[in-house]
Amino acid sequence: MIAEVIVDIAASETDRIFDYLCDDGVAVGSRVRAPFGGKILPGFVMRLKEASDFPQERLKKVIPYEDELPALTPECLALAEKLTARYRVPKALTLRLFLPAEMRTGKVRELMRNYATLCTSIEDMKLAKTAKNQLGAALYLQEHGKTDCAYLNSLFPGGVSALEKKGYAVIAKEQILRDPYKSVNAEKVERTLTPDQARAVDTIHTDPRTVQLLHGVTGSGKTEVYLTLIAECLQEGKSSIFLVPEISLTPQMLSQLRARFGKNAAILHSGLSAGERFDEWWRLRTGEAKIAIGARSAIFAPLENLGVIIVDEEHDSSYASESAPRYTTFDVAYLRAKKNNCKLVLGSATPSAETYKRAKDGEFSLIRMDKRINKRPLPEILIADMRREVRRGNNSSFSGALKEELSKCLSQGKQAILFLNRRGYSQTVICKECGYVAKCEACDVSLTYHRDENCLKCHYCGTKYSMLSACPDCGGRKLSYAGTGTQRIAADLQKMYPNARIIRMDNDTTSGKEGHYKILKTFAEKKADILVGTQMIAKGHDFPSVTLVGILDADMSLHFSDYRSAERTFQLITQVAGRSGRAEEQGKVVLQTFDPENEVLRFATSYDYEGFYENEISLRAAMAFPPFSKIVRVLVTGEDDKKCIEALREVYIGLEQLYTENPDKFLFFNKMRAPIKRIQNKYRYQVLMRLSDTSVLPEVYSICAEARTRDALVSVEENPTNLS
Ligand code: ADP
Ligand code: ZN
Repeated sequence: MIAEVIVDIAASETDRIFDYLCDDGVAVGSRVRAPFGGKILPGFVMRLKEASDFPQERLKKVIPYEDELPALTPECLALAEKLTARYRVPKALTLRLFLPAEMRTGKVRELMRNYATLCTSIEDMKLAKTAKNQLGAALYLQEHGKTDCAYLNSLFPGGVSALEKKGYAVIAKEQILRDPYKSVNAEKVERTLTPDQARAVDTIHTDPRTVQLLHGVTGSGKTEVYLTLIAECLQEGKSSIFLVPEISLTPQMLSQLRARFGKNAAILHSGLSAGERFDEWWRLRTGEAKIAIGARSAIFAPLENLGVIIVDEEHDSSYASESAPRYTTFDVAYLRAKKNNCKLVLGSATPSAETYKRAKDGEFSLIRMDKRINKRPLPEILIADMRREVRRGNNSSFSGALKEELSKCLSQGKQAILFLNRRGYSQTVICKECGYVAKCEACDVSLTYHRDENCLKCHYCGTKYSMLSACPDCGGRKLSYAGTGTQRIAADLQKMYPNARIIRMDNDTTSGKEGHYKILKTFAEKKADILVGTQMIAKGHDFPSVTLVGILDADMSLHFSDYRSAERTFQLITQVAGRSGRAEEQGKVVLQTFDPENEVLRFATSYDYEGFYENEISLRAAMAFPPFSKIVRVLVTGEDDKKCIEALREVYIGLEQLYTENPDKFLFFNKMRAPIKRIQNKYRYQVLMRLSDTSVLPEVYSICAEARTRDALVSVEENPTNLS
């Protein structure tokens, strides 16, 4: 047989498909090892055929892996085909999405163990009386049946292999699955659905539309709806995919899922080791596990016969990929739902304006759950006017109202969450004499002071610089720290409440294998009183003892120059506020702002999603912003400035021609430096467009694919979540 193989060459700009000889057993979709230019590279069998145009003797032979099944299913292959065509990237790159990284590099292997079983009864064995270890091993095997050889050898060294040599026992290799949740123990909670939940489940079954938007306030019990849908699928022998933002996979969530679905669920998250991920992936591929739970990338789970796909917190920005191919999770989920003829359930308390519009327009079904479980009220949100605080002479980060509520909360033995979307101690270091600002050498951004490590850090590339004792420009010794970060807040709090146990959760504290799980677990077990954190604490956590949430700087995200900033602010406030008062106790939220009249804040504090949406969508329509148009950014990056400019020129010429030929399809067209001119020593240029008609999009992709060079990466981003 001849196999057409895609060889996964890391830096290649185009696909290389080669003919190889292969054995008869090799199937389409299998991964293979392909001899290539003196090396062995990973590859995938795309097609099989009888004959090649090349002479047989010049063809090399691929070595198959000993996989039980081809790694890629027919659905995956077809999907990869579509994504490749849509985003104009090499197929090798698209195929990588479908496999855990550790499978391509081949560094991880199945964990194999030797097991022994007796095949002769002891009475029929001819063993010398002195062969104590053989006798011991034989007796043990007779009594216990199949046993791990390593264990037997620890009891009776060498015994079992001697038995095998004599033909009395057989030893066979078996795969061991690493179990990442050995330590997770939880009890199964059986719940009866509330009428709202039952109605939601029912609508999802009966409404004929593929996409079902579940718009439920925080704490309305959306999770229970998802779990019910998944359990039903399991009963029918169907599989399901459940996506959450990575950070929502809290210890509580993990144990809940584990208790409910046991080994039927494969939970893929960043805390797994490479080996664990590998095993979990194969459990899905073989159908041993029928539920894939994880962040964005779990949408590529190798499951067949899908019964439902669920995307929780559908508005979350983590659902957009930030590297090529820059797919949106919704698009992939939709293709898979269509292919499997199943429902795609989107859930959120604050759907994105785009999603909500499609639901209001009738394209998606819209299901509302507007009450919290047990009719608990949503927490009251107090606005603290920080201008007035400053006028009163309070220059600290804490308003009078927040301090008062914090003291009350702590004295009642409850927990509080304080939210600030900026990590580090202070945002910038400025020389008071000459105005010098400490900047990263590799990126065009200012450095943040981190007091823990007494250093300056770049939040874009992670480089650490030692702290300055004087200004490098003028030698001045008066350095000032501007802007407050989470470290500073935690330090100030500790001074105010010396007995309070304060923990911090941000990018600095969550590195390492278990990073945020540990912090969340500590907080969930009430081993801390106050949790200070960045937006990562905003997502779906359910801490019953939290009765106070403080939002320290509600305006910050309002001032990003991004069409989504109002939406993000609304979402963030609603999500963070939703962490308060989830159990019996009424919750409170203190929202600090310098702009108390701002209408986005007004809508958020009165939990008026509908009002916010109407206001927002009419602004978007008036300005012709998405969803009434599409923003497309073409980003050119590379280490050599000249070569970037060359590539930019090439791209620009092509795009400009497209623009002049289709002026009616463009609302905006311009080339410029990216707002951050350099990140990690790579120069950045962009062409920014706003399209009223996306029919020119395929053309944009192909112009960019052609302009890509060895030295300049040209990428296309649609409605980018980050325009820096
Ligand atoms: P959401 O995801 O909508 O924010 P959750 O799913 O976290 O809300 O549910 C909020 C709380 O209500 C959780 O503590 C959950 O255990 C509880 N809950 C959900 N459904 C039920 C039910 N049917 N009966 C009792 N408690 C429930
Ligand atoms: Zn940097």
